[in-house]
Amino acid sequence: MKKIRAILIIIAAALVFAGCAGTENMAEPVIAAGTMREEIAQPTALVNIATEASDILETTAAHTAYITMETTSITESVTETTSDIHGIIEATQQSTAPQVITRPPGEKMLAITFDDGPGRYTQPILDLLEKYGGRATFFVLGGRVWNNRYILKNIMAQGSEVAGHSWHHINFLSLGEQCIRDQIEYTDRAIYNITRVEPPRFFRPPFGAFNETVRDVALDTGTAIIMWSVDPRDWESRDPDRIYNYIMERAHDGGIIVAHDIHRTTAEAMERVIPSLIERGFKLVTVSELLGETVPGRVYYSEFRSAD
Ligand SMILES: [Zn+2]
Repeated sequence: MKKIRAILIIIAAALVFAGCAGTENMAEPVIAAGTMREEIAQPTALVNIATEASDILETTAAHTAYITMETTSITESVTETTSDIHGIIEATQQSTAPQVITRPPGEKMLAITFDDGPGRYTQPILDLLEKYGGRATFFVLGGRVWNNRYILKNIMAQGSEVAGHSWHHINFLSLGEQCIRDQIEYTDRAIYNITRVEPPRFFRPPFGAFNETVRDVALDTGTAIIMWSVDPRDWESRDPDRIYNYIMERAHDGGIIVAHDIHRTTAEAMERVIPSLIERGFKLVTVSELLGETVPGRVYYSEFRSAD
């Protein structure tokens, strides 16, 4: 049943997102000063006909490729035997609903977050968290959830947390309200279908890019936007030493670190980052544990910095 539901979600998502052209509503992003972003599509003042035509072709090709990708993944899923379902660790069905930690005086808390997975380095990072006694939040892509469902269950079983990061990492600044809402809701549904635990009431937009429309959708859907206060730009440097040094220099109480569990170099950096932070007295918690109940529509950068 779970497989059928997952396939239906994937098909529905593919159909819905195929209608999101990705060119409407190109408003300026609202980003706090000092916040680093991977890349943001910059709206151009003048769009000539040739550019427009090329955009349409590109968008169509992207969606065709996306639907083909999803169809392949559906075919693969269908041809699998059903026996793998029995191999799923049912223990993870237990609720791991977020709880606010009552902080003892002097205790420092930090939330490490991993975007763009689940991927091949998610499990090694999870093993490190388990080994040293920490938790983290994984902002996953809805389109990757079904094929990595065992990892998703392992994340939950370990006590870490799964939240949405859009269906296929499209820049929300290029989408209209309904398409943004679909990206958030389909991803949450795909997560719930595997974990059987309602995802937390927050998400992280791709590239950390948001504007008033994204915030309106967040408010409407009762979700908050989670940004970060420490960005080692691990996707750019791919250098474990630089990633390690950056994090160790800037780690602070109540902070939110952004990293990506799809890079080998990030997993390598974590081999030192996780034990070192714990040694320094940081308790590594999930975003839900750090922030407690979040306010819909609000943007959070850390425990102590947020914006309405
Ligand atoms: Zn991302």
